[in-house]
Amino acid sequence: MICFLSVERDLQVIAFEIIEAQLERILPTVQKPGRYAGGELNQVVKDWRAISTHVALVFPDIYDIGMSNLGLAVLYDLLNERPDVWAERAYSPWADMEAAMRAAGVPLYSLESKHALADFDIIGFSLPYETLYTNALNALDLAGIPLFSAERNELHPLIIAGGHTTYNPEPMAAFIDAFVIGEGEEVIQEIVNTQQTWKASGASRHELLRRLSRIWGVYVPSLYNAHYAEDDTFSHIEKLDPDAPLPVTKRIVARMPPPPTRFIVPYIETIHQRVPVEIMRGCTRGCRFCQAGMITRPVRERPVQEIVDAIEHALDSTGFEEVGLLSLSSSDYTHILELVNAVSAHFAGRHLSVALPSLRIESVSVDLMDALKDARRSGFTLAPEAATERMREIINKPVSTRQLLETAHEIYSRGYQTIKLYFMIGHPSETIEDVQAIADLCKAVLAEGRKVIGKRAQVTAGVSNFVPKPHTPFQWVPCDTTEQILAKQALLKQALRGPGLKLNWTPPEDTMLEAWLSRGDRRMGEVIYQAWRLGAKFDAWNEHYRYDIWLAAFRTVGLDPNFYTHRERPIDETFPWEHISTTVRKKFLTEDYLWSLLGKTRIDCRERCFACGILPTFIELRRQNPGEVWQCPEVKTERIQISNFVGD
Ligand code: SF4
Repeated sequence: MICFLSVERDLQVIAFEIIEAQLERILPTVQKPGRYAGGELNQVVKDWRAISTHVALVFPDIYDIGMSNLGLAVLYDLLNERPDVWAERAYSPWADMEAAMRAAGVPLYSLESKHALADFDIIGFSLPYETLYTNALNALDLAGIPLFSAERNELHPLIIAGGHTTYNPEPMAAFIDAFVIGEGEEVIQEIVNTQQTWKASGASRHELLRRLSRIWGVYVPSLYNAHYAEDDTFSHIEKLDPDAPLPVTKRIVARMPPPPTRFIVPYIETIHQRVPVEIMRGCTRGCRFCQAGMITRPVRERPVQEIVDAIEHALDSTGFEEVGLLSLSSSDYTHILELVNAVSAHFAGRHLSVALPSLRIESVSVDLMDALKDARRSGFTLAPEAATERMREIINKPVSTRQLLETAHEIYSRGYQTIKLYFMIGHPSETIEDVQAIADLCKAVLAEGRKVIGKRAQVTAGVSNFVPKPHTPFQWVPCDTTEQILAKQALLKQALRGPGLKLNWTPPEDTMLEAWLSRGDRRMGEVIYQAWRLGAKFDAWNEHYRYDIWLAAFRTVGLDPNFYTHRERPIDETFPWEHISTTVRKKFLTEDYLWSLLGKTRIDCRERCFACGILPTFIELRRQNPGEVWQCPEVKTERIQISNFVGD
C-alpha cells in the first residue's frame, strides 16, 4: 500500500506539470483567465512534497462568487497555520473553461499548486445553498473522482461538505463521505487529525468513515439507512453501525476565534472587494421563516477592540478600502454604536467605506444612521419581509408600519435617495390583500422620501418567494405553487408602476428547485444525479438553469416534485432531517408554528429566554464561558430547569 501511494505521488507531479503546460495554452482562449490562474496576493504556497495532508477547499460556483465566501477563507487561514497541512482553493470553471479543460484532458485543479484535485487527501465543499448541488457533482466529475461515495476506495480523496444546506444533508447523502454539521473552525482540525492517523494505519476507507463519525458535528450518511412509510413519507433512520451517533448534534465553538486578516486579493473583479469581519454569530429575534436564525444559535459576539484590530491588520495586508461588518442582524450587535464610532475614529482619513448589511428596522437608531453617514452609499436596505402588521406577527417580525415609515423618513433625511425594501410572498396564511399591501407600503415609503428630497426619492422592492426550510417553525407549511406565485407577481407588476418605483422578483421555477431540494429526502439524490446527467449545472444562474431538465429527472426517478413542495405536513410527521440536531427542540418549533397560526409573537429572546433547547445541550460550554460571551442566560443551577425559561 505505502509503495503504491509513493508511485501515485510521482505520477501526480507529472500531472501537475502537464496541467501547467496545458493552462499556458488554454487560458488565453477563455473569458477572464484571472479566474483560473491563482498567484494572487496572500495566497499560501508551500512545498507540496513536504506536506503530509493536502486539503482542497472547493466552492462549486465561479471564482467571482466563491472568493467572497467567508467560511472558506476562515478554514483556509486556520488550516494553513499548520505546518503539516496545505489548504488550496478550487472553483467551478465557467462553461467556456470547462469545455476547454475537458477537450484538453485537464482535470479540476487547485489554484495554488495546479495539482489535480484527485491528488488531494481531503476535498471540502462549501454548500451554503442548494442550487450548488449539481455543480458539486460536476466538480467531482471534472476531477475524475467517482461521484458516489460507495464507489470510492482508499486512494480517493475524502469528500466532505459543510455550509447551511448540510442541516438537511439527505439529498446529497450518496455523494458526500462526511458532512460537517455546524461551525467548522475546530472540527476541521479534528477531521484532518483523524485522516492522518487513519492514513498511517493503512486501515480501510470504511474504517476512516467510522472514525470520522465519532467526531462531534460529523455526519457520515453511509452509516445509516433511510426508511419510508407506505404513503411515501419518511419513516425513520436506521443505524448500520451500532456506535454511530443518533442524533448527530451540530458543532459550535464556545467563543468565536480571532477573525482571519490575510485575505487573498483577486486580480479580477469579484462580488465583494472588501474585508469581511463577522462581528456576531447567531440571532435571537426568532423570525419563523429564517433557517439561519434557528440553526446558528446561540448568539456570540466578538469584542469591539478585536474587530478594530482585525480591520487594521486586514487593511494593511490587502489594501482594500471597504470593510463589511457581517452578521445575521448587525444592528443587534450589543455594542454596534460603539463599534461604528470606533471604526470611524480609528480609520479617519483613510477613506474607508463601512458596509453594515442586515439592519433591523427597529434597531436602526438615529444615532446609528448618523454614525454611518460617512459610509454613505446610494441606497439603504430594510427587510420588513411582509407588508401588513398581521403578516409580520405571523412570521414573528413584529415591527409597526408607523415605525417603518419613521425610519424611512430618517434615512431619506440623511441624504439617501433609494431605499431597498425586501419582502417575501408566500408566507403561511397570506391573502391577496397582504400582497397588495406590499405595493401600498412601497408607495407610502416613497411618499416619505418625496416629503424630504422630492422627486429624487426612489424605492426598490425586492420580492422573493418564500421557501419553507428544515429546522424552522415553518418546516410544516406548503410552498406556493407556480400558479399562485405568478398571480401574486402579476398583481405586484401592475401595482408597482410609476416614477421612483422599481420591482425585482424571482421566477417561480427558481423557487421550485430550492423548495424541492431544501426539504428533500435521501431519494432526492437520484433526482440530482439524473438532472446532472441530463446537463443541469450552474442552477443558480438564469442563463444555465433548466427547469425542464429537473422535471425530466423527477420523471426518470419516478418521484412527484409536488410531494416535496406543496404538501402541508401533518404536525406529527417525522422529517428526513430529524436525525440532525440543531439543538433547538422540535417541541419548541411546533409550539412556535402553532403560535404563528394564532398571530402570537415572541420577543427577542435576549430579553426573555424561551427555552429553545440550546442550553440543556450546551450547559457545560455555557458554564465555562460566563458573562457576555453568549447572549443566552447564564446557567447557575446544577440541573437546568426548563420551566425557568418557558414563556406563558
Ligand atoms: S436558550 Fe433561550 S436565549 Fe438562548 S437562543 Fe434559546 S431561547 Fe434564545
